[in-house]
Amino acid sequence: MAIKVKAVRGMQDLLPEKKAAFRFVEDQVRNIVGQYGYREVGLPVIESTQLFSRLVGESTDIVEKEMYSFADRNGESLTLRPEGTAGLVRLANENGLIFNQVQRFWYAGPMFRYERPQKGRYRQFEQIGVECLGMEGPDIDAEILLMSARIWEALGIEKDVTLELNSLGDVSSRQRYKDALVNYLNDYKSDLDEDSLRRLSSNPMRILDSKVPATQQLLSGAPELLDFLDEDSQRHFQGLCEILEQAGLQYCVNPRIVRGLDYYNRTVFEWVTDTLGSQGTVCGGGRYDGLVEQLGGKSSASVGFAMGLDRLVLMVEGSRAKTDSVELYVVSIGDQERIKALVLAERIRKELGITTLVHSGSSKLKAQMKKADASGAKAALIIGEQELTSGEITVRLLRSEGSQERIKEVQLVAYLRKVFDRE
Ligand code: ATP
Ligand code: MG
Repeated sequence: MAIKVKAVRGMQDLLPEKKAAFRFVEDQVRNIVGQYGYREVGLPVIESTQLFSRLVGESTDIVEKEMYSFADRNGESLTLRPEGTAGLVRLANENGLIFNQVQRFWYAGPMFRYERPQKGRYRQFEQIGVECLGMEGPDIDAEILLMSARIWEALGIEKDVTLELNSLGDVSSRQRYKDALVNYLNDYKSDLDEDSLRRLSSNPMRILDSKVPATQQLLSGAPELLDFLDEDSQRHFQGLCEILEQAGLQYCVNPRIVRGLDYYNRTVFEWVTDTLGSQGTVCGGGRYDGLVEQLGGKSSASVGFAMGLDRLVLMVEGSRAKTDSVELYVVSIGDQERIKALVLAERIRKELGITTLVHSGSSKLKAQMKKADASGAKAALIIGEQELTSGEITVRLLRSEGSQERIKEVQLVAYLRKVFDRE
């Protein structure tokens, strides 16, 4: 008996229109980050589990409950990457690309997180990430923000996204803030949701991220991170705001943004939209100056962001992305004629670059012509016995009331070049 195997929950099939939309988004991003001198790297999809548990942080959502980890045949614990920054820093460190250098990198590809699937949230999803190594900023922070704004313009969604900015300060200012926050929330323990209560001892700043309305309400009276910043971080943040103002990039300061991962410090930001329901963040990032050191490298100031392509695709879908459409359809009657059709189509694609579909199989002429019409092609080539013996091809212009002409085969390429306006 046949068994039915379905796609794994949370893993999407991308049908041609959808895949074209992904390609469109990626092409726009590739074009723009290239203009800023960013170079693409390829990261492995699988890394040692340790890389993420150490760098992303044991008590983050990702490491606590979202990783796809498994033992390989040698018993080594491996993980399908849930994000790209840890892998990129490993790559840069391992290949000697960090010390005394500045680097601007980007990467694209699938990430994996075991989450509850819903619109804009999947278990396999695509990210494009940008990472800058060896620059202290705040000018480089501003550069990547301006660059991301250019990307939204290229995608035509600049009116639907806003930039929210915050600073987490350095390790010691965060520690002082954590103490103050825990102190404040300790008085309201009984009002906290279950997750937040757990985080109160494991990772209290994550409570700021809570989506539970009652918890959000409680937080409105909580101390604010920006009041706890060390002097250098304060200066850095002011410097960044000043550049953004001069460059005319609008933002708002949101003291609740902490980002889900442990490695951030100083600048953090999110680009958010209200067009996607509760999956409203399309891009998030910030500085991670301490990450390289944690991997045993020399300390290196770094900043980056990752954008979620699945969400961006939902925003641009139907607007600009196009699949390659059929331009020419070749029909034939008879075995020899069918071979002729294939050979001719090869020549046309090669010489003119026209998207050409050859009818497959031996249906009646009428049925083939119906298919030709439905394909959306501008013209059809018809090859039957008469054509084969006379060395001519019938060309029917499908969008001009079925007008048709016999063209000598030797003149066909020149004729099509005109019809399709190819140089
Ligand atoms: P969220 O709060 O929505 O879970 P996050 O903070 O976990 O997001 P990041 O780790 O910052 O997300 O990843 C950067 C971007 O990748 C997000 O802003 C989002 O656009 C996208 N992203 C993250 N998780 C998913 C997912 N499960 N499905 C689709 N896109 C995702
Ligand atoms: Mg998440």
